[in-house]
Amino acid sequence: EAKAKGAGRVALANPKMIASANSQMYLEGQLREAIANDGLVLHYQPVVGPDGRVLSAEALVRWPHPERGILPPGEFLPVAERGDLLRELDRWVLRTALREASTWPEHSGHPVCVAVNLSGLVPGDADFVDVIATSVVASGIPWDRVIIELVETLLIDLPERSRTAMDELVERGVRFAVDDFGTGYSSLARLKELPAQIIKVDRRFVSGVATESADFAVARALVDMGRAMGRSCVAEGVETATQFHVLRGIGVEAFQGWLMSRPIPPGQFRQLLRKGPVHIPEGS
Ligand code: C2E
Ligand code: MG
Ligand code: MG
Ligand code: MG
Repeated sequence: EAKAKGAGRVALANPKMIASANSQMYLEGQLREAIANDGLVLHYQPVVGPDGRVLSAEALVRWPHPERGILPPGEFLPVAERGDLLRELDRWVLRTALREASTWPEHSGHPVCVAVNLSGLVPGDADFVDVIATSVVASGIPWDRVIIELVETLLIDLPERSRTAMDELVERGVRFAVDDFGTGYSSLARLKELPAQIIKVDRRFVSGVATESADFAVARALVDMGRAMGRSCVAEGVETATQFHVLRGIGVEAFQGWLMSRPIPPGQFRQLLRKGPVHIPEGS
């Protein structure tokens, strides 16, 4: 018992814990403030077709932290989750991404769609449709340029109410994407139950597609099955030209990854849109 060991011992054992609890609370407070005061930024990563034309872009949140530099979501989403801030963060991202995307220039004569990741605001929420509808209407973006990305685990065994909410948005033109497909627990067979028009094949299969025969087989099975069920497939994390060409060969229609572009700030993304299709190297 701490008490039995004397006050000195307690004083020595605790500062680290206190410091870490304090810095956690401090960070949480800073994040709450950043969400409330537009202290976050969105970077956009293009998704391109087989010809390099930009079809859409995924909004990826970053936190320009006053002392620690630009923080990636992996470093502050857990803080948001613990502090019950995920929902507020999602609402901020939704509002901001749709507003920014509503003013994007056309690309090669076509409008470009925007994809938003949601993890705190979920289809089971009573106000799911309302929150999304309000952001769409406020931004003036056409419904059919909006894509909502949800991870597989949020989409399996959905209650009827959640499906109805998603259907309502789909009727207006919104599309849903299953993010990181293949990393959750649902089997290929359950793909047909997933209420999503787009399947994002996780980077873990993409990275081995040109070198590991098992990854190639899984990627090909996913794409074939997706096509048979009327879904379109996006390959995530495409880093090499060889991966791109192998994926194109098995029928992937959309590609996202560092080969085409890193996620970039809004101004830079607008510039990218004004240029022609993204150049894809020939590969080896
Ligand atoms: P995600 O939705 O699967 O996003 C793709 C992640 O892969 C991004 O990481 C992106 O920067 C990274 N990536 C893209 N291309 C490549 C590549 O070629 N190679 C490699 N190694 N990585 C690549 P990021 O931006 O750090 O985001 C991580 C995760 O955080 C996202 O995974 C998403 O689950 C979550 N997230 C990001 N932004 C938001 C947001 O605004 N709201 C919510 N709720 N979650 C977000
Ligand atoms: Mg995503
Ligand atoms: Mg993903
Ligand atoms: Mg991912």
